[in-house]
Amino acid sequence: MTTFVREAGPRRNPGSRDHRVELVLEDLRIRARIADENASDTEIEKIARADLAALGEKKSEQVGQEIERLTVLTRLPKRRDTLRAVEMAGMLRLPQIIELNEQLQLRPGSGRKADRWPAIAMLWALAGGLHERPCISTAHEAMLGDPLLGFALGYPRQRPLSSLYELIGSMCAYHDPWLAMSANIAIAKTLAARHASAGGYPMGKVLMVDGTFVQGHFQQRMARSERERELMYSDAAPNAAFARYTNAKGDTLVKCSGYKWVSLIDPRAMIPLVGRLVPASADERGACTLLLEDLFELWPDHPVEYLVGDSYFDHSKRFNRSLESCWSIHPVFPSHGASKSDSPYADTDGVPHCDCKLPMSRHSHDGFPTLAARQREGLRRGEPMDLEEARVRYDCPNGLHKSVTVRPRENACLYTLLPREATSDNGTFHAMRVAMLLKRNRIESFFASLKHLGLGGKDQQRFRSKAEDTLEWILAIGCLSITARTLLHDSGRYPGAVQILDDLGLLRVATPDAPAIGPTPDRALRGDQMLRDLLAAQGDHDDLARAA
Ligand SMILES: [Zn+2]
Repeated sequence: MTTFVREAGPRRNPGSRDHRVELVLEDLRIRARIADENASDTEIEKIARADLAALGEKKSEQVGQEIERLTVLTRLPKRRDTLRAVEMAGMLRLPQIIELNEQLQLRPGSGRKADRWPAIAMLWALAGGLHERPCISTAHEAMLGDPLLGFALGYPRQRPLSSLYELIGSMCAYHDPWLAMSANIAIAKTLAARHASAGGYPMGKVLMVDGTFVQGHFQQRMARSERERELMYSDAAPNAAFARYTNAKGDTLVKCSGYKWVSLIDPRAMIPLVGRLVPASADERGACTLLLEDLFELWPDHPVEYLVGDSYFDHSKRFNRSLESCWSIHPVFPSHGASKSDSPYADTDGVPHCDCKLPMSRHSHDGFPTLAARQREGLRRGEPMDLEEARVRYDCPNGLHKSVTVRPRENACLYTLLPREATSDNGTFHAMRVAMLLKRNRIESFFASLKHLGLGGKDQQRFRSKAEDTLEWILAIGCLSITARTLLHDSGRYPGAVQILDDLGLLRVATPDAPAIGPTPDRALRGDQMLRDLLAAQGDHDDLARAA
Protein backbone atom coordinates (compact mmCIF):
# COMPACT_ATOMS: atom_id res chain seq x y z
CA MET A 1 0.00 0.00 0.00
CA THR A 2 1.13 3.54 -0.66
CA THR A 3 0.10 6.52 1.40
CA PHE A 4 0.49 9.93 -0.18
CA VAL A 5 0.51 12.77 2.31
CA ARG A 6 -1.02 15.90 0.84
CA GLU A 7 -2.31 19.09 2.28
CA ALA A 8 -5.81 20.05 1.34
CA GLY A 9 -4.85 23.30 -0.32
CA PRO A 10 -1.82 25.29 -1.37
CA ARG A 11 0.84 26.06 1.20
CA ARG A 12 0.21 29.21 3.16
CA ASN A 13 2.48 31.22 5.43
CA PRO A 14 -0.04 32.74 7.82
CA GLY A 15 0.45 36.46 8.13
CA SER A 16 3.44 36.63 5.83
CA ARG A 17 1.56 38.25 2.95
CA ASP A 18 0.31 41.08 5.19
CA HIS A 19 3.79 41.43 6.52
CA ARG A 20 5.23 41.77 3.04
CA VAL A 21 2.55 44.26 2.03
CA GLU A 22 3.51 46.33 5.06
CA LEU A 23 7.17 46.23 3.98
CA VAL A 24 6.28 47.47 0.48
CA LEU A 25 4.06 50.16 1.99
CA GLU A 26 6.88 51.33 4.23
CA ASP A 27 9.13 51.66 1.18
CA LEU A 28 6.47 53.64 -0.67
CA ARG A 29 6.11 55.98 2.34
CA ILE A 30 9.87 56.64 2.30
CA ARG A 31 9.80 57.35 -1.44
CA ALA A 32 6.85 59.72 -0.98
CA ARG A 33 8.67 61.48 1.84
CA ILE A 34 11.82 61.94 -0.29
CA ALA A 35 9.66 63.34 -3.10
CA ASP A 36 7.96 65.82 -0.78
CA GLU A 37 9.75 66.62 2.48
CA ASN A 38 6.99 69.01 3.64
CA ALA A 39 3.92 66.80 3.23
CA SER A 40 1.91 65.88 6.31
CA ASP A 41 1.89 62.26 7.55
CA THR A 42 -1.73 61.85 6.43
CA GLU A 43 -0.83 63.01 2.92
CA ILE A 44 2.16 60.67 2.78
CA GLU A 45 -0.02 57.76 3.88
CA LYS A 46 -2.58 58.60 1.16
CA ILE A 47 0.08 58.78 -1.56
CA ALA A 48 1.72 55.52 -0.41
CA ARG A 49 -1.64 53.66 -0.37
CA ALA A 50 -2.54 55.01 -3.82
CA ASP A 51 0.85 53.83 -5.15
CA LEU A 52 0.26 50.42 -3.59
CA ALA A 53 -3.16 50.14 -5.26
CA ALA A 54 -1.66 51.17 -8.62
CA LEU A 55 1.03 48.53 -8.15
CA GLY A 56 -1.62 45.88 -7.51
CA GLU A 57 -3.67 46.97 -10.52
CA LYS A 58 -0.65 46.85 -12.80
CA LYS A 59 0.05 43.29 -11.67
CA SER A 60 -3.51 42.07 -12.03
CA GLU A 61 -3.82 43.69 -15.45
CA GLN A 62 -0.75 41.73 -16.51
CA VAL A 63 -2.20 38.50 -15.16
CA GLY A 64 -5.39 39.30 -17.10
CA GLN A 65 -3.37 39.67 -20.30
CA GLU A 66 -1.59 36.38 -19.67
CA ILE A 67 -4.91 34.61 -19.03
CA GLU A 68 -6.10 36.02 -22.35
CA ARG A 69 -3.15 34.30 -24.05
CA LEU A 70 -4.38 30.98 -22.63
CA THR A 71 -7.99 31.27 -23.89
CA VAL A 72 -9.46 28.00 -25.15
CA LEU A 73 -9.16 28.01 -28.96
CA THR A 74 -11.46 25.19 -29.99
CA ARG A 75 -15.20 25.67 -30.26
CA LEU A 76 -17.39 23.12 -28.53
CA PRO A 77 -21.16 23.36 -28.01
CA LYS A 78 -22.83 22.43 -24.73
CA ARG A 79 -23.38 18.74 -24.39
CA ARG A 80 -27.15 19.11 -24.09
CA ASP A 81 -27.25 20.86 -27.48
CA THR A 82 -25.78 17.88 -29.31
CA LEU A 83 -26.85 14.32 -30.01
CA ARG A 84 -24.41 11.76 -28.72
CA ALA A 85 -25.32 9.15 -31.35
CA VAL A 86 -24.79 11.66 -34.18
CA GLU A 87 -21.40 12.54 -32.71
CA MET A 88 -20.59 8.84 -32.52
CA ALA A 89 -21.60 8.37 -36.19
CA GLY A 90 -19.26 11.22 -37.11
CA MET A 91 -16.32 10.17 -34.93
CA LEU A 92 -16.28 6.63 -36.34
CA ARG A 93 -16.06 8.08 -39.86
CA LEU A 94 -13.12 10.40 -39.19
CA PRO A 95 -10.18 9.11 -41.29
CA GLN A 96 -7.87 8.92 -38.25
CA ILE A 97 -10.36 6.70 -36.46
CA ILE A 98 -11.20 4.58 -39.51
CA GLU A 99 -7.47 3.79 -39.64
CA LEU A 100 -7.36 2.86 -35.94
CA ASN A 101 -10.38 0.59 -36.28
CA GLU A 102 -8.81 -1.13 -39.29
CA GLN A 103 -5.71 -1.87 -37.21
CA LEU A 104 -7.93 -3.32 -34.50
CA GLN A 105 -9.46 -5.68 -37.06
CA LEU A 106 -6.07 -7.24 -37.78
CA ARG A 107 -5.02 -10.38 -36.05
CA PRO A 108 -1.43 -9.84 -34.83
CA GLY A 109 1.14 -12.04 -36.56
CA SER A 110 -1.06 -13.29 -39.37
CA GLY A 111 -1.98 -9.78 -40.61
CA ARG A 112 -5.33 -11.27 -41.62
CA LYS A 113 -8.53 -9.42 -41.03
CA ALA A 114 -10.86 -10.96 -38.49
CA ASP A 115 -14.48 -9.95 -37.93
CA ARG A 116 -13.82 -7.99 -34.80
CA TRP A 117 -16.30 -5.26 -35.70
CA PRO A 118 -18.84 -6.28 -33.03
CA ALA A 119 -16.11 -5.88 -30.40
CA ILE A 120 -14.82 -2.61 -31.86
CA ALA A 121 -18.33 -1.13 -32.03
CA MET A 122 -18.94 -2.26 -28.45
CA LEU A 123 -15.69 -0.66 -27.28
CA TRP A 124 -16.80 2.68 -28.78
CA ALA A 125 -20.28 2.27 -27.32
CA LEU A 126 -18.72 1.67 -23.89
CA ALA A 127 -16.22 4.51 -24.03
CA GLY A 128 -18.07 7.08 -26.08
CA GLY A 129 -20.54 8.12 -23.41
CA LEU A 130 -23.63 6.61 -25.05
CA HIS A 131 -24.59 5.21 -21.67
CA GLU A 132 -24.31 6.26 -18.04
CA ARG A 133 -21.52 3.86 -17.28
CA PRO A 134 -19.43 1.40 -19.26
CA CYS A 135 -21.41 -1.83 -18.98
CA ILE A 136 -21.28 -4.40 -21.77
CA SER A 137 -24.76 -5.82 -21.19
CA THR A 138 -26.41 -2.37 -21.00
CA ALA A 139 -24.65 -1.28 -24.19
CA HIS A 140 -25.64 -4.54 -25.89
CA GLU A 141 -29.28 -4.11 -24.90
CA ALA A 142 -29.33 -0.49 -26.06
CA MET A 143 -28.25 -1.58 -29.53
CA LEU A 144 -31.16 -4.01 -29.91
CA GLY A 145 -33.62 -2.63 -32.43
CA ASP A 146 -32.11 0.86 -32.43
CA PRO A 147 -31.68 2.01 -36.07
CA LEU A 148 -29.81 5.21 -35.13
CA LEU A 149 -27.25 3.42 -32.94
CA GLY A 150 -27.00 0.66 -35.55
CA PHE A 151 -26.05 3.15 -38.25
CA ALA A 152 -23.79 5.19 -35.94
CA LEU A 153 -21.83 2.10 -34.90
CA GLY A 154 -21.55 0.73 -38.45
CA TYR A 155 -24.09 -2.10 -38.08
CA PRO A 156 -22.14 -4.57 -35.92
CA ARG A 157 -23.18 -8.17 -36.52
CA GLN A 158 -25.22 -9.55 -33.65
CA ARG A 159 -23.25 -11.82 -31.33
CA PRO A 160 -24.40 -13.61 -28.20
CA LEU A 161 -23.47 -11.61 -25.12
CA SER A 162 -21.07 -14.26 -23.80
CA SER A 163 -19.03 -14.39 -27.00
CA LEU A 164 -18.96 -10.59 -27.08
CA TYR A 165 -17.26 -10.53 -23.67
CA GLU A 166 -14.66 -12.95 -24.95
CA LEU A 167 -14.12 -11.09 -28.22
CA ILE A 168 -13.61 -7.73 -26.47
CA GLY A 169 -11.27 -9.25 -23.88
CA SER A 170 -9.06 -10.94 -26.46
CA MET A 171 -8.97 -7.91 -28.76
CA CYS A 172 -7.97 -5.60 -25.91
CA ALA A 173 -5.31 -8.03 -24.73
CA TYR A 174 -3.84 -8.39 -28.26
CA HIS A 175 -3.60 -4.72 -29.13
CA ASP A 176 -1.73 -1.99 -27.32
CA PRO A 177 -3.80 1.10 -26.33
CA TRP A 178 -0.86 2.99 -27.82
CA LEU A 179 -2.79 2.68 -31.11
CA ALA A 180 -5.55 4.85 -29.66
CA MET A 181 -3.01 7.41 -28.41
CA SER A 182 -1.47 7.48 -31.86
CA ALA A 183 -4.87 8.25 -33.44
CA ASN A 184 -5.42 10.85 -30.73
CA ILE A 185 -2.17 12.62 -31.59
CA ALA A 186 -3.06 12.53 -35.31
CA ILE A 187 -6.28 14.41 -34.50
CA ALA A 188 -4.47 16.78 -32.12
CA LYS A 189 -2.07 17.68 -34.96
CA THR A 190 -5.02 18.50 -37.20
CA LEU A 191 -6.43 20.77 -34.50
CA ALA A 192 -3.05 22.45 -34.00
CA ALA A 193 -2.79 23.10 -37.76
CA ARG A 194 -6.29 24.60 -37.78
CA HIS A 195 -5.33 27.07 -35.06
CA ALA A 196 -1.71 27.69 -36.07
CA SER A 197 -2.31 31.38 -36.71
CA ALA A 198 -4.25 32.09 -33.50
CA GLY A 199 -2.89 34.71 -31.09
CA GLY A 200 -1.60 34.03 -27.59
CA TYR A 201 0.39 30.94 -26.67
CA PRO A 202 0.59 28.52 -29.62
CA MET A 203 -1.34 25.32 -29.03
CA GLY A 204 0.90 22.90 -27.13
CA LYS A 205 3.33 25.46 -25.69
CA VAL A 206 1.74 25.02 -22.25
CA LEU A 207 0.68 21.52 -21.13
CA MET A 208 -0.90 20.29 -17.92
CA VAL A 209 -0.43 17.00 -16.10
CA ASP A 210 -2.41 15.21 -13.43
CA GLY A 211 -3.81 11.85 -12.46
CA THR A 212 -7.19 10.62 -11.26
CA PHE A 213 -8.03 7.44 -9.37
CA VAL A 214 -9.82 4.73 -11.35
CA GLN A 215 -11.31 1.99 -9.19
CA GLY A 216 -10.76 -1.58 -10.28
CA HIS A 217 -13.67 -3.99 -10.00
CA PHE A 218 -12.58 -5.19 -6.57
CA GLN A 219 -13.33 -4.49 -2.94
CA GLN A 220 -12.11 -1.01 -2.16
CA ARG A 221 -9.86 -1.93 0.73
CA MET A 222 -6.29 -2.92 1.38
CA ALA A 223 -5.44 -6.62 1.15
CA ARG A 224 -4.23 -7.97 4.47
CA SER A 225 -1.87 -10.52 2.97
CA GLU A 226 -0.18 -11.33 -0.32
CA ARG A 227 -2.50 -14.33 -0.77
CA GLU A 228 -5.55 -12.16 -0.15
CA ARG A 229 -4.20 -9.70 -2.69
CA GLU A 230 -3.89 -12.46 -5.31
CA LEU A 231 -7.44 -13.61 -4.66
CA MET A 232 -8.88 -10.10 -4.67
CA TYR A 233 -7.24 -8.87 -7.86
CA SER A 234 -6.89 -12.09 -9.94
CA ASP A 235 -4.56 -12.62 -12.92
CA ALA A 236 -6.51 -10.21 -15.10
CA ALA A 237 -5.35 -7.27 -12.98
CA PRO A 238 -1.58 -7.65 -12.44
CA ASN A 239 -1.00 -3.92 -11.90
CA ALA A 240 -3.81 -3.12 -9.50
CA ALA A 241 -2.75 -1.66 -6.17
CA PHE A 242 -4.18 0.07 -3.15
CA ALA A 243 -3.37 3.66 -2.31
CA ARG A 244 -4.77 6.44 -0.24
CA TYR A 245 -4.27 10.12 0.32
CA THR A 246 -4.13 11.36 3.86
CA ASN A 247 -3.64 14.79 5.30
CA ALA A 248 -0.81 15.55 7.70
CA LYS A 249 -2.94 14.36 10.64
CA GLY A 250 -3.36 10.93 9.03
CA ASP A 251 -7.07 11.22 8.14
CA THR A 252 -7.89 9.47 4.87
CA LEU A 253 -8.96 11.96 2.18
CA VAL A 254 -9.41 9.51 -0.73
CA LYS A 255 -8.58 5.87 -1.21
CA CYS A 256 -8.62 3.59 -4.19
CA SER A 257 -8.07 -0.04 -4.97
CA GLY A 258 -7.06 -0.17 -8.60
CA TYR A 259 -5.41 2.41 -10.78
CA LYS A 260 -4.73 5.97 -11.71
CA TRP A 261 -5.29 7.45 -15.15
CA VAL A 262 -2.49 9.94 -15.67
CA SER A 263 -2.79 12.32 -18.58
CA LEU A 264 -1.14 15.24 -20.34
CA ILE A 265 -3.67 17.74 -21.65
CA ASP A 266 -3.44 20.75 -23.92
CA PRO A 267 -5.27 23.56 -22.10
CA ARG A 268 -5.70 25.73 -25.19
CA ALA A 269 -7.27 22.95 -27.27
CA MET A 270 -8.94 21.39 -24.18
CA ILE A 271 -7.98 17.92 -25.36
CA PRO A 272 -5.91 15.11 -23.85
CA LEU A 273 -2.68 14.27 -25.69
CA VAL A 274 -1.46 11.06 -24.07
CA GLY A 275 -2.56 9.05 -21.05
CA ARG A 276 -1.63 5.89 -19.21
CA LEU A 277 -3.21 3.51 -16.75
CA VAL A 278 -0.79 3.04 -13.86
CA PRO A 279 -1.14 1.30 -10.47
CA ALA A 280 -3.03 3.45 -7.94
CA SER A 281 0.17 3.51 -5.88
CA ALA A 282 2.35 4.73 -8.77
CA ASP A 283 4.34 7.91 -8.51
CA GLU A 284 2.71 10.50 -10.79
CA ARG A 285 6.09 12.09 -11.46
CA GLY A 286 7.41 8.81 -12.84
CA ALA A 287 4.22 8.40 -14.87
CA CYS A 288 4.67 11.95 -16.17
CA THR A 289 8.13 11.07 -17.49
CA LEU A 290 6.65 8.08 -19.33
CA LEU A 291 3.95 10.32 -20.79
CA LEU A 292 6.59 12.74 -22.08
CA GLU A 293 8.38 9.81 -23.71
CA ASP A 294 5.08 8.75 -25.30
CA LEU A 295 4.34 12.27 -26.49
CA PHE A 296 7.68 12.85 -28.17
CA GLU A 297 7.70 9.42 -29.75
CA LEU A 298 4.35 10.15 -31.37
CA TRP A 299 5.01 13.84 -32.00
CA PRO A 300 8.78 14.49 -32.05
CA ASP A 301 8.51 18.22 -32.76
CA HIS A 302 5.77 18.98 -30.25
CA PRO A 303 6.33 22.58 -29.06
CA VAL A 304 5.74 22.21 -25.27
CA GLU A 305 7.78 24.63 -23.12
CA TYR A 306 5.84 24.84 -19.85
CA LEU A 307 4.33 22.06 -17.76
CA VAL A 308 1.68 22.95 -15.18
CA GLY A 309 0.73 20.59 -12.36
CA ASP A 310 -0.09 20.45 -8.66
CA SER A 311 2.34 20.87 -5.77
CA TYR A 312 3.05 17.13 -5.69
CA PHE A 313 5.17 17.58 -8.83
CA ASP A 314 7.21 20.20 -6.99
CA HIS A 315 8.20 17.65 -4.36
CA SER A 316 11.30 16.35 -6.15
CA LYS A 317 14.35 18.40 -7.07
CA ARG A 318 15.49 15.63 -9.38
CA PHE A 319 12.21 15.55 -11.33
CA ASN A 320 12.22 19.34 -11.73
CA ARG A 321 15.87 19.33 -12.78
CA SER A 322 15.22 16.63 -15.36
CA LEU A 323 12.27 18.57 -16.80
CA GLU A 324 14.68 21.43 -17.53
CA SER A 325 17.73 19.47 -18.60
CA CYS A 326 16.27 16.39 -20.35
CA TRP A 327 13.05 17.78 -21.75
CA SER A 328 13.61 21.56 -22.06
CA ILE A 329 10.38 22.09 -20.18
CA HIS A 330 10.00 24.74 -17.48
CA PRO A 331 8.13 23.39 -14.44
CA VAL A 332 5.18 25.49 -13.27
CA PHE A 333 4.01 23.93 -10.02
CA PRO A 334 2.78 25.52 -6.80
CA SER A 335 5.34 25.38 -4.04
CA HIS A 336 5.45 22.19 -2.02
CA GLY A 337 8.04 23.61 0.30
CA ALA A 338 9.44 20.43 1.78
CA SER A 339 12.67 20.24 -0.20
CA LYS A 340 13.64 23.87 0.15
CA SER A 341 13.98 25.03 3.69
CA ASP A 342 17.78 24.88 3.73
CA SER A 343 18.35 26.87 0.52
CA PRO A 344 18.88 30.64 0.36
CA TYR A 345 15.69 32.67 -0.28
CA ALA A 346 13.53 29.66 0.60
CA ASP A 347 11.27 31.82 2.77
CA THR A 348 10.50 34.05 -0.23
CA ASP A 349 9.90 31.11 -2.60
CA GLY A 350 13.22 31.49 -4.37
CA VAL A 351 12.97 35.21 -5.18
CA PRO A 352 15.94 37.06 -3.65
CA HIS A 353 15.27 40.08 -1.43
CA CYS A 354 17.98 42.69 -0.84
CA ASP A 355 18.44 44.95 2.16
CA CYS A 356 15.81 47.28 0.69
CA LYS A 357 13.40 44.68 2.16
CA LEU A 358 11.83 44.33 -1.28
CA PRO A 359 11.73 41.48 -3.75
CA MET A 360 14.50 42.23 -6.23
CA SER A 361 13.94 43.02 -9.92
CA ARG A 362 14.16 40.09 -12.31
CA HIS A 363 16.87 41.32 -14.65
CA SER A 364 17.37 38.45 -17.09
CA HIS A 365 17.88 34.73 -17.53
CA ASP A 366 20.22 32.73 -19.70
CA GLY A 367 21.91 29.37 -20.13
CA PHE A 368 18.69 27.36 -19.95
CA PRO A 369 18.69 24.28 -22.20
CA THR A 370 15.81 25.73 -24.21
CA LEU A 371 14.02 24.11 -27.11
CA ALA A 372 15.89 26.40 -29.51
CA ALA A 373 19.26 25.36 -28.00
CA ARG A 374 18.22 21.73 -28.26
CA GLN A 375 17.30 22.15 -31.91
CA ARG A 376 20.62 23.90 -32.62
CA GLU A 377 22.54 21.02 -31.08
CA GLY A 378 20.36 18.42 -32.79
CA LEU A 379 19.35 16.74 -29.53
CA ARG A 380 16.01 14.98 -29.25
CA ARG A 381 13.73 15.65 -26.30
CA GLY A 382 14.62 13.28 -23.52
CA GLU A 383 18.37 13.55 -24.09
CA PRO A 384 20.02 15.36 -21.18
CA MET A 385 21.58 18.78 -21.71
CA ASP A 386 23.84 20.80 -19.47
CA LEU A 387 22.01 22.78 -16.77
CA GLU A 388 25.22 24.16 -15.22
CA GLU A 389 24.98 27.58 -16.88
CA ALA A 390 21.24 28.12 -16.42
CA ARG A 391 20.62 31.15 -14.21
CA VAL A 392 18.24 33.97 -13.40
CA ARG A 393 19.72 37.34 -12.43
CA TYR A 394 18.05 39.71 -10.00
CA ASP A 395 18.96 43.38 -9.38
CA CYS A 396 18.28 45.72 -6.46
CA PRO A 397 15.15 47.75 -7.34
CA ASN A 398 16.80 50.93 -6.03
CA GLY A 399 20.22 50.26 -7.54
CA LEU A 400 21.84 50.18 -4.09
CA HIS A 401 22.73 46.52 -3.59
CA LYS A 402 24.68 43.85 -5.40
CA SER A 403 22.91 41.73 -8.02
CA VAL A 404 22.05 38.14 -7.12
CA THR A 405 22.14 35.14 -9.44
CA VAL A 406 20.14 32.00 -8.67
CA ARG A 407 20.81 28.70 -10.42
CA PRO A 408 18.27 25.90 -11.00
CA ARG A 409 21.07 23.33 -10.78
CA GLU A 410 21.28 24.15 -7.06
CA ASN A 411 17.55 23.68 -6.50
CA ALA A 412 15.32 23.33 -9.55
CA CYS A 413 12.16 23.49 -7.44
CA LEU A 414 13.05 26.80 -5.85
CA TYR A 415 14.94 28.78 -8.52
CA THR A 416 12.39 28.69 -11.31
CA LEU A 417 12.39 30.51 -14.63
CA LEU A 418 9.00 31.99 -13.75
CA PRO A 419 9.38 33.49 -10.25
CA ARG A 420 6.93 32.44 -7.56
CA GLU A 421 6.78 35.88 -5.99
CA ALA A 422 5.96 39.20 -7.64
CA THR A 423 9.27 40.87 -8.45
CA SER A 424 10.03 44.61 -8.43
CA ASP A 425 10.26 44.87 -12.23
CA ASN A 426 7.34 44.82 -14.66
CA GLY A 427 6.53 41.31 -13.43
CA THR A 428 5.70 39.61 -16.75
CA PHE A 429 7.34 36.32 -15.81
CA HIS A 430 5.52 36.18 -12.50
CA ALA A 431 2.22 37.03 -14.23
CA MET A 432 2.79 34.12 -16.67
CA ARG A 433 3.12 31.75 -13.73
CA VAL A 434 0.05 33.13 -11.94
CA ALA A 435 -2.08 32.88 -15.09
CA MET A 436 -0.98 29.30 -15.84
CA LEU A 437 -1.70 28.19 -12.28
CA LEU A 438 -5.06 29.97 -12.25
CA LYS A 439 -6.04 27.93 -15.33
CA ARG A 440 -4.88 24.66 -13.79
CA ASN A 441 -8.54 23.73 -13.24
CA ARG A 442 -8.72 22.94 -16.98
CA ILE A 443 -7.26 19.52 -16.25
CA GLU A 444 -9.98 19.02 -13.64
CA SER A 445 -12.53 19.87 -16.35
CA PHE A 446 -10.93 17.21 -18.52
CA PHE A 447 -11.25 14.57 -15.80
CA ALA A 448 -14.85 15.72 -15.30
CA SER A 449 -15.48 15.10 -19.02
CA LEU A 450 -14.05 11.61 -18.65
CA LYS A 451 -16.41 10.98 -15.72
CA HIS A 452 -19.24 12.41 -17.81
CA LEU A 453 -18.53 9.64 -20.32
CA GLY A 454 -19.04 7.21 -17.44
CA LEU A 455 -15.29 6.54 -17.16
CA GLY A 456 -13.36 6.56 -13.92
CA GLY A 457 -16.58 6.35 -11.93
CA LYS A 458 -16.65 5.14 -8.35
CA ASP A 459 -18.35 2.14 -6.74
CA GLN A 460 -21.58 1.36 -8.65
CA GLN A 461 -20.43 3.48 -11.59
CA ARG A 462 -17.13 1.73 -12.19
CA PHE A 463 -16.41 -0.62 -15.09
CA ARG A 464 -17.53 -4.02 -13.87
CA SER A 465 -14.76 -6.22 -15.12
CA LYS A 466 -11.40 -7.10 -13.66
CA ALA A 467 -9.81 -7.15 -17.12
CA GLU A 468 -7.14 -4.47 -16.90
CA ASP A 469 -6.44 -4.47 -20.66
CA THR A 470 -10.07 -3.73 -21.43
CA LEU A 471 -10.22 -0.98 -18.80
CA GLU A 472 -7.14 0.69 -20.25
CA TRP A 473 -8.57 0.48 -23.78
CA ILE A 474 -11.88 1.98 -22.66
CA LEU A 475 -10.10 4.91 -21.02
CA ALA A 476 -7.86 5.39 -24.07
CA ILE A 477 -10.88 5.36 -26.41
CA GLY A 478 -12.67 7.71 -23.98
CA CYS A 479 -9.81 10.23 -24.32
CA LEU A 480 -9.78 9.75 -28.08
CA SER A 481 -13.53 10.38 -28.22
CA ILE A 482 -13.08 13.70 -26.38
CA THR A 483 -10.49 14.81 -28.94
CA ALA A 484 -12.51 13.47 -31.88
CA ARG A 485 -15.66 15.24 -30.66
CA THR A 486 -13.67 18.46 -30.39
CA LEU A 487 -12.51 18.14 -34.00
CA LEU A 488 -16.01 17.26 -35.20
CA HIS A 489 -17.42 20.49 -33.78
CA ASP A 490 -14.37 22.68 -34.24
CA SER A 491 -14.22 21.88 -37.96
CA GLY A 492 -17.91 22.77 -38.26
CA ARG A 493 -18.79 19.28 -39.57
CA TYR A 494 -21.41 18.41 -36.95
CA PRO A 495 -24.42 20.21 -38.53
CA GLY A 496 -23.68 18.41 -41.83
CA ALA A 497 -23.68 15.09 -40.00
CA VAL A 498 -27.05 15.92 -38.40
CA GLN A 499 -28.41 16.73 -41.87
CA ILE A 500 -27.24 13.42 -43.36
CA LEU A 501 -28.74 11.38 -40.51
CA ASP A 502 -31.95 13.36 -40.66
CA ASP A 503 -32.22 12.74 -44.42
CA LEU A 504 -31.85 9.02 -43.69
CA GLY A 505 -34.90 9.33 -41.43
CA LEU A 506 -32.87 8.34 -38.36
CA LEU A 507 -33.66 11.40 -36.27
CA ARG A 508 -37.41 11.04 -35.99
CA VAL A 509 -39.47 9.28 -33.33
CA ALA A 510 -41.36 6.11 -34.22
CA THR A 511 -45.16 6.59 -34.48
CA PRO A 512 -48.03 4.05 -34.65
CA ASP A 513 -48.42 4.88 -38.37
CA ALA A 514 -44.74 4.53 -39.09
CA PRO A 515 -43.22 2.32 -36.40
CA ALA A 516 -40.19 1.39 -38.45
CA ILE A 517 -37.64 4.15 -38.87
CA GLY A 518 -34.44 4.35 -40.82
CA PRO A 519 -33.27 4.05 -44.43
CA THR A 520 -33.29 1.28 -47.02
CA PRO A 521 -30.01 -0.68 -47.33
CA ASP A 522 -29.02 1.34 -50.42
CA ARG A 523 -29.64 4.66 -48.76
CA ALA A 524 -27.84 3.58 -45.59
CA LEU A 525 -24.79 2.74 -47.67
CA ARG A 526 -24.98 6.06 -49.49
CA GLY A 527 -25.44 7.94 -46.20
CA ASP A 528 -22.38 6.21 -44.80
CA GLN A 529 -20.29 7.31 -47.79
CA MET A 530 -21.62 10.88 -47.57
CA LEU A 531 -20.63 11.06 -43.93
CA ARG A 532 -17.15 9.71 -44.68
CA ASP A 533 -16.72 12.29 -47.47
CA LEU A 534 -17.89 15.07 -45.16
CA LEU A 535 -15.27 14.12 -42.58
CA ALA A 536 -12.43 13.25 -44.95
CA ALA A 537 -10.62 16.58 -44.50
CA GLN A 538 -10.85 18.82 -41.48
CA GLY A 539 -7.65 20.80 -41.65
CA ASP A 540 -8.50 23.64 -44.02
CA HIS A 541 -8.71 27.15 -42.69
CA ASP A 542 -11.56 28.10 -45.02
CA ASP A 543 -13.94 26.21 -42.77
CA LEU A 544 -12.73 28.15 -39.80
CA ALA A 545 -13.23 31.44 -41.60
CA ARG A 546 -16.65 30.38 -42.86
CA ALA A 547 -17.81 29.20 -39.45
CA ALA A 548 -16.54 32.29 -37.62
ZN1 LIG B 1 18.36 46.92 -2.51
